[in-house]
Amino acid sequence: GSGSVVNEEREENLRSPICCIMGHVDTGKTKLLDCIRGTHVQEGEAGGITQQIGATYFPAENILERTKELKADAKLKVPGLLVIDTPGHESFTNLRSRGSNLCDIAILVVDIMHGLEPQTIESLNLLRRRNTEFIVALNKVDRLFGWKKCKNAPIRKAMKQQSVDVVNEFNRRVTEVITQFKEQGLNTELYYKNREMGETFSIVPTSAISGEGIPDLLLLLVKWAEKSMVEKLTYVDKVQCTVLEVKVIEGHGTTIDVVLVNGVLHEGDQIVVCGTQEPIVTSIRSLLTPQPLKEIRVKGTYMHHKEVKAAQCIKITAQGLEHAVAGTALHVIGPGEDVEEAKKTAMEDMKSVMSRIDKSGEGVYVQ
Ligand code: GDP
Repeated sequence: GSGSVVNEEREENLRSPICCIMGHVDTGKTKLLDCIRGTHVQEGEAGGITQQIGATYFPAENILERTKELKADAKLKVPGLLVIDTPGHESFTNLRSRGSNLCDIAILVVDIMHGLEPQTIESLNLLRRRNTEFIVALNKVDRLFGWKKCKNAPIRKAMKQQSVDVVNEFNRRVTEVITQFKEQGLNTELYYKNREMGETFSIVPTSAISGEGIPDLLLLLVKWAEKSMVEKLTYVDKVQCTVLEVKVIEGHGTTIDVVLVNGVLHEGDQIVVCGTQEPIVTSIRSLLTPQPLKEIRVKGTYMHHKEVKAAQCIKITAQGLEHAVAGTALHVIGPGEDVEEAKKTAMEDMKSVMSRIDKSGEGVYVQ
């Protein structure tokens, strides 16, 4: 019947999942992302990864290339993966919260040498409150005494190269971390032993220095998202978009960095953004993303796009963005839609942002 047609269409029309990396300071969040990006660049892959502002977009081809040792399917259902990169510094709690808010799925990084730490538990509680699926990256396995490096190898392959002592130490520490999670009321298990994904959270041992376990982490993330989040990831026409940052850029004036969660943005689209005093009605002058990683050091050069499809992180230039408020939604005024209505909706957001600020005692983050 028609039901199956709908399902087929759905499966082929998934947007990229949005993932954020959370955890205690110094567990290797930044390094993990560097590791995923860096290897592709070193390998000189064509059509490679683009480092976005506060986010990195990984096209499906790159994910497949990176995970080929795991003999994954030849195709992914999603076009790629957008990883949100939020600053780890304590003063950015507001920004971290904004980033994690947008996530479909998260990586919770735990240092295998330290186990659960205060910020791990804080992140864990944030994820639970939001009902966000997550995968634990048990990082720094290379620091186990006597670890033999197996650059970028799947974790089980790397484990086979290790001495009995290393394996024992590994098992001891994994068991300890599982116990610590249990104390937080959470069931966890090594991902390749996990038979009840969804009930039991998966642990992927990784090294952000030598890359062991990174293929496993990438593949598990994407496959898990594809399998369990079809509804959420189904592509829709209606734009869902959040302002991440408001920034002055030389030659562009005040710009906004946005995360397009769903839908398409076009050059020339009329938009409404929440402003400190009043709603801002303007139209998109340009849609920019940074150059591919190789060229990102060339300051101030961006790729221009006529349109961008979700999920992506985009810099928007337009008139009158000076007083835009980060953390609020961007609305697109479609043909026949009421500008006044959109203005009202935009300012509703201001109230919720202000109440969050009141509660946390933080100021509006404007860079
Ligand atoms: P963040 O604060 O969570 O972003 O942590 P960083 O990515 O800045 O890493 C903190 C420190 O741990 C840095 O000195 C990294 O080089 C180191 N580090 C991160 N990941 C690993 C890893 O997998 N193995 C080892 N040996 N060191 C790591």
